Amino acid sequence: SRQFTRPLNDLANQFNTLLSAVAGAERVFEVLDEKKEEDQEGSINLETVKGNVEFKNVSFSYEKESKTISNANFSVKAGEMIALVGPTGAGKTTIINMLSRFYSPKSGEITIDGINILTIKRENLRKHMGFVLQDSFLFEASIMENIRYGSFDASDDEVREAAKQANAFSFISKLPNGFETILDQEGSGISQGQRQLLSIARVILANPSILILDEATSSIDTITEIKIQEALQRLMIGRTSFVIAHRLNTIQQANQILVLNEGEIVENGSHTELLRKGGLYAEMNHQGQKDD
Ligand code: ADP
Repeated sequence: SRQFTRPLNDLANQFNTLLSAVAGAERVFEVLDEKKEEDQEGSINLETVKGNVEFKNVSFSYEKESKTISNANFSVKAGEMIALVGPTGAGKTTIINMLSRFYSPKSGEITIDGINILTIKRENLRKHMGFVLQDSFLFEASIMENIRYGSFDASDDEVREAAKQANAFSFISKLPNGFETILDQEGSGISQGQRQLLSIARVILANPSILILDEATSSIDTITEIKIQEALQRLMIGRTSFVIAHRLNTIQQANQILVLNEGEIVENGSHTELLRKGGLYAEMNHQGQKDD
């Protein structure tokens, strides 16, 4: 039902159905927003973003009875990597949904470079963000066009260069039609891991200051997995990166790890700090466990 739509998770599914309805070069998010919340009067466009992000006493609930996020406080400096961990339903996605303005906090405020994001035009805000999610938004068009979606005026050479940086070039080159291969709606013919590499290439081309990464949970072969990790490491350099982590081994180098449980930030620190603390994070590591 509509009420339980989870924007970030459903983005890819909706994308395929909606894209056919989109004329020309509209951005993804405009059509995905169910509520089409108007921007506040006098909203601004940011030309550039450094990527300092702060949550100040942010609370949120989808429904009246329950509080989904209680009083979240944290700040990330430009260029840092922050990982969000915790059990399923802890609120990781909700934090990201608010940062990307699918939902607004019920109280408190979220700032980017000190500016309340509610005063920034949403379309503009999202131009400064790049998403690499579990399901990639591929549409029925050539690989060239799928990558170029990150920046419509990129030349073919720039697209190829982005594919190289994303570790996607070699598999694309091996396809009979190379960059002109048409992906069908399911993106069939290429694996899920390869789809991720294409979405990384797209984000490289878009060159945003803030990254949202939601790691794939389903099985991806080891070689492609290594390519993805390597490409993501490269992509994260110099960008503020939010990583929703499903495997703890990929986030040990994070500047900050937020451990969420039932909507509360129960721990916040580096890998070593949190291990030493011997709390939930240490326990999760001890179990060698995935969060879901
Ligand atoms: P996580 O990403 O850590 O798994 P979520 O942020 O998705 O957690 O969910 C936090 C809580 O909010 C869960 O109890 C979940 O069921 C609930 N929830 C998530 N999205 C919605 C929604 N659109 N409407 C109502 N409840 C939601």
